[in-house]
Amino acid sequence: MQTFAIGVDLGGTNLRIAAVDDSGKLLEKLTLGTEVKRGRDHVIQEMCNAIEQLKAKYKASGELCGIGIGVPGFIDMETGRVMRSPNLADWTNFPVREVIEKRLSTPVILENDANVAAMGEKWLGAGRQVEHMAMYTLGTGVGGGLIFNGKLWHGMTGMAGELGHFNVFPDGHPCGCGSRGCLEQYASATAVVRMAREAIERKEASEELERLAPDPQQFTSRSIYNLAVQGDTSAKKIFETVGRALGIGIGGMVNALNLPMYVIGGGVASSWDAFAPTMFAEMKFRSSIYSLTSPEQKEFVRSTLITRALLGSDAGLYGAARLPMLEDFTQVEKSRTHA
Ligand SMILES: [Zn+2]
Repeated sequence: MQTFAIGVDLGGTNLRIAAVDDSGKLLEKLTLGTEVKRGRDHVIQEMCNAIEQLKAKYKASGELCGIGIGVPGFIDMETGRVMRSPNLADWTNFPVREVIEKRLSTPVILENDANVAAMGEKWLGAGRQVEHMAMYTLGTGVGGGLIFNGKLWHGMTGMAGELGHFNVFPDGHPCGCGSRGCLEQYASATAVVRMAREAIERKEASEELERLAPDPQQFTSRSIYNLAVQGDTSAKKIFETVGRALGIGIGGMVNALNLPMYVIGGGVASSWDAFAPTMFAEMKFRSSIYSLTSPEQKEFVRSTLITRALLGSDAGLYGAARLPMLEDFTQVEKSRTHA
């Protein structure tokens, strides 16, 4: 081992930290009981302690090249600050990168959580063989990440890849972003539950689906999926809408970018067999580029692959650890001092 890095997944509820070497081998993974709701200073303290611990433990076998931190929300890449994060309100505008760098004397990269998941899948997961890919993370919301030439595409201000807010139904359900009918409103776990509730209100739900509703622990996208695979028509219909929304969203991306791979991860991705048939049908309808390049077509040597993510919730940890390995910090220093 030459070097290793530390990846941090700063979720809405938990803090996870992993030491990963430059060959992609996981050295150690810590899930800290740290409650994010106890506030920023507490979380930073716990995070720094754990990083120091890992740094000391593995220093004999390699050099720590940096720390990558995945954060839910908008990040200002220039200043290393969280611009907006619904789950981490007290982190807004706080100079996270600077504070941690000073404390640990190690370079820190702050990155959006969906972007680090995309990087993880690119490095060690579904995207290992491609240089360009888009990733959709279907969780409480829908996150997105774009990788071009093996690197994250940030756009002008670091806000690129918000694939969850790709518009799929222009007059559809209102979205937290202020728009209507965003992909997130049809393909997230939250959306699956909402659509089930709407079906019940419209009296279009089966008795079984209706029976789940009163108990929030039971009324989850997973249990609705279980009904769908058992053949429940009303549950199946919900996942057809998920598939349709994804097909429209990804079809648009295929038309715009003609990438070799689109990876779908997050909790709802495990309902693949319930939404994928509609998704593929919709993609063929919406994107003639997909029709021409889908794997069953033999016209082109290379196909457009739409595939499931492989790393589960560890994608973000691996991706966060990968970021400092890809960075030339001497160049970063220069650009920061000249800014
Ligand atoms: Zn939106």
